[in-house]
Amino acid sequence: MLRINDLVKIYPGPVAALKGVSLEIPEGLFGLLGPNGAGKSTLMNILAGLLEPTGGSVTLDGADIVKDPRAVWSRLGYLPQDFGFYPSLSGAQMLDFLLRLKGVDAPQGRKRLVDELLERVNLADAAKRKVRTYSGGMRQRLGIAQAIAGNPRLVIVDEPTAGLDPEERQRFYRILAELGRDRIVLLSTHIVEDIATLCPRFAVIRGGRCVTSGGTAEARQRLDGRVHEGIVSLDALDRLRASHRVTQAVLVEGSMFRTRVQGDASDRPDGFTTVPPTLEDVYFGVMDESRAQRSTPPIAVA
Ligand code: ADP
Repeated sequence: MLRINDLVKIYPGPVAALKGVSLEIPEGLFGLLGPNGAGKSTLMNILAGLLEPTGGSVTLDGADIVKDPRAVWSRLGYLPQDFGFYPSLSGAQMLDFLLRLKGVDAPQGRKRLVDELLERVNLADAAKRKVRTYSGGMRQRLGIAQAIAGNPRLVIVDEPTAGLDPEERQRFYRILAELGRDRIVLLSTHIVEDIATLCPRFAVIRGGRCVTSGGTAEARQRLDGRVHEGIVSLDALDRLRASHRVTQAVLVEGSMFRTRVQGDASDRPDGFTTVPPTLEDVYFGVMDESRAQRSTPPIAVA
């Protein structure tokens, strides 16, 4: 179990990137969702032992990551957002270099470990090719190969599917799903589909705070019967915004908007149909709520 308790991070400025985040993350795939600037990378860097928090604690199976990051490094695999590669090395050379850097034990020899890891991420056929010639998806898979070396208990992946084409994304999903069978895999992303595809549990952070967390299926069920969809013009959309809670409006065919509103069935706009809720509905609903709460003026105390 990964336990995050009241984590605060204030950068010089001061910028409050985390304002007291608490989460309990069990074995399996856990999604951390939030818009750009929400504080996801800050949280990931603290969990990876690379950044010291201003306050709060983090424990992995009882061991304190903040007090003693070295003690957990060997049980941790990290694929950061900007993973550096040496383009003139082959995939196998690059991985060998990274394993040495990480100090991974290889009782049966590093060459064997490199081969095994490349096999695991479906890069065996490209082992001798220069990393320069790899696609974005292949580079990400090489990044995962170094992250899982040494069989870590906790694997952290930061925005792993940004820029991947749909086929590469699916391949990457399969690798992550397999990893999540017997360890904690924490996936940070602003892409809701990543979480919907992979994670039974998730949290949303916004403005340095956790605004919701729990099971993805339960979160969707809570919205059952409350999401209504219709296609409207821009004028009608403006009117709808004044009377309903519009959580999504996606342009279709250049002039109309596929629009989703959330609310009681009795309040469903004319021409709209009630649709099964998706995780996007959960996400946009939560974002809308937390925006509304923030813009509510503080109550003056006499
Ligand atoms: P996310 O990963 O969700 O996009 P970040 O953790 O990168 O969010 O950033 C959270 C907030 O902290 C943002 O306002 C960002 O500008 C700020 N921030 C991130 N890193 C630094 C830094 N090194 N110094 C000052 N502010 C930072």
